[in-house]
Parts: sequence; C-alpha cells; structure tokens
Amino acid sequence: MAEVLVYVDHVDGAVRKPTLELLTLACRLGEPVAVALGAGAESTASVLAEHGATRVLTHEASEYADYLVVPKVDALQAAYQAVSPAAVLIPSSAEGKEIAARLALRITSGILTDAVDLEAGDEGPVATQSVFAASFTTKSRIAKGTPVITVKPNSAAVEAAPAAGAVEALTVSFSEQASGTKVTGRTPRESTGRPELTEAAIVVSGGRGVNGAENFPLIEALADSLGAAVGASRAAVDAGWYPHTNQVGQTGKSVSPQLYIANGISGAIQHRAGMQTSKTIVAVNKDPEAPIFDLVDYGVVGDLFDVVPQLTEEINTR
Ligand code: FAD
Repeated sequence: MAEVLVYVDHVDGAVRKPTLELLTLACRLGEPVAVALGAGAESTASVLAEHGATRVLTHEASEYADYLVVPKVDALQAAYQAVSPAAVLIPSSAEGKEIAARLALRITSGILTDAVDLEAGDEGPVATQSVFAASFTTKSRIAKGTPVITVKPNSAAVEAAPAAGAVEALTVSFSEQASGTKVTGRTPRESTGRPELTEAAIVVSGGRGVNGAENFPLIEALADSLGAAVGASRAAVDAGWYPHTNQVGQTGKSVSPQLYIANGISGAIQHRAGMQTSKTIVAVNKDPEAPIFDLVDYGVVGDLFDVVPQLTEEINTR
C-alpha cells in the first residue's frame, strides 16, 4: 500500500488535534508515515501510532525553534526523498501553508490548500475545497507530481486506528537558507483557558447585536458552558469590543467547527466566508429577515439578551 507523509504539528511533544485529523484522512489514502521535528519529537510517537501512523520519522535539532520554516522544509524534503510518498498532508495553519508551498516548489509538485475533505481517487487523492467566500465547494486533484495538500482543522473526526508507529531517525542536512531568518523572541499570548479559535469543535460568536464590549461576557459565558472558543464579527472587532485575533471571516480567521453559534450577526458574505463550512450552524437574531437564517440549521428569532442567558443556564444545568 502507498505511504502518505503527514507533517506533525506539536508543541514539545504534545500533538495538536489537526494532526490527528490528518492521520484519519491519510488512512483513507494509504499508510500514514508521520514526520515529527524539534524538541519532543520522539515523544509524539505513541499518540501518532494510536491514530494510524505506521512509522514516525523524527529529528530533534535546535534549528527548528531557532529559525523560521526553512529547516522544517529541509526535513520534510528529506522525508519525501526517503519515503517516495503518494501524497504529503500538512495542517492548514499559516506556517503549514508556507511549508507546503515551499515543499511543493522544491519537488515541482502541485499544491492544494485549505481542503475540507479528502478521498482516494483512481488518479490520486481528491480534495474538497470551499471557494468564492464559501459559496461553492469544488473537488480537485493534483495533476503534477506528488500531491501536497493542506487540510483545515476540524475537517475530519479523529479516529483511533492502532498501528505500529515504529520510530525511525530521519537524516536531515540543513540547506544554506535554513539559517536565513532567526527567531529572536517568542511572546506567548495570554491564555483565556478556551480552545484555539481555528481548532475549536464549537465556536460561539458575537456581532454588532451584542451592542458593546461590556456585553461580550454573555457570549463568553455561553462559550464556557460548551467548552467553546469565542469569535466575533468584524463589526464587533472594528468597534473595539473584541480583539481582532477572534475575528471570523474573510479578513479574519476561517473556522470549520462541529457547531457554530452566531449571536447578533447578520450573515454578511464576508462573515460567511469564515464559517460557512461549519457542520451545524445556529443563529440567534431578532430580525427574522436576517440573511444568516438562509444558512442555519437551527435559527432562533429573538433578542440575544433574553435567549443567550437562558441557553447558558439550560446547558449549565445539564
Ligand atoms: P450587522 O450587519 O450590523 O448585523 C447585526 C445583526 O444583529 C443584525 O442582523 C441585527 O438584526 C442583529 N441584532 C441586533 N440587536 C440584536 C439583539 N439584541 N438580539 C439579536 N440580534 C440582534 N465581516 C466579518 O464578520 N468578518 C470579516 O472578516 C469581514 N471582512 C470584510 C472584508 C471586507 C473587504 C469588507 C468590505 C467587509 C468585511 N466584513 C467582514 C464586514 C461585513 O461586510 C459586515 O459588515 C459585518 O460582518 C457585519 O457584522 P455584524 O453581522 O456583526 O453586524
């Protein structure tokens, strides 16, 4: 069976959920071979094996933390040459997309970014993408070289698939460009205790209807009752009610959670662009004609100041 390379996104050995989702998708295409780099790479092996990795290629070196993406591209290229995979899968983060683009250029392959689903096809993997501000979905496959595909978080359910997960040391020689851009410092964002917006299984968002920063705790309380991340429309962000890092939409973040709850958001095309691929969409809006109701699975016509606290209370009692 063909092997499929999966780039492992991890923090000091703690594997992030989008990588486990990639392993689920990789199992549909062939035998996943994971590539884990940097501090803690070897300790990723057991969790990767539980989710389908037949082999885990590891390389620990300070270069991965000291410089921007090129050392990782060097390592992935080395893995590509060692494995000759049928496809290379990478999480669709900003870093993941840069790694993918650089790798595809080096191995003269085509690239597909932001896939939301993958299936095996007679002529290679077929990727589903959401295009034109999420108005359409397309199915594409790469016609040149080994497909390099980035996949959006929450595109697949994580499935247990026990496999050998044999750890093998990857031999990497860094290119001249590897030390081109040095990282001089890292400032971790203050933790809210909530999941990362783009990876969260549930997102609760607030828009102009929230009517002020002082009312956003209502949205946060609902989010906390569900273990969700908090999102905001651009109107709420531009008004200074919530940070831009939480903006969902064309000029914000793109999310694809299992459940998206939009509160006081009209559903402008630019907002839809960032959330339309959510699996289940719920909206609370006092205007029954609001365009958001065209795309919801469940809609509540009502004042969010009545509905949201009741919803939070009900969920908290369960
Ligand atoms: P509004 O459109 O004003 O809607 C507010 C809604 O709240 C209304 O439907 C109203 O009925 C409802 N409401 C009011 N009070 C209550 C209440 N008490 N209870 C319940 N409902 C209530 N927007 C984004 O979100 N993300 C982007 O990334 C983004 N990028 C953009 C990029 C460009 C180039 C442009 C031109 C625009 C972009 N926008 C983006 C802006 C977008 O066009 C909309 O202006 C914005 O999404 C509107 O935000 P909103 O839905 O919160 O506000």
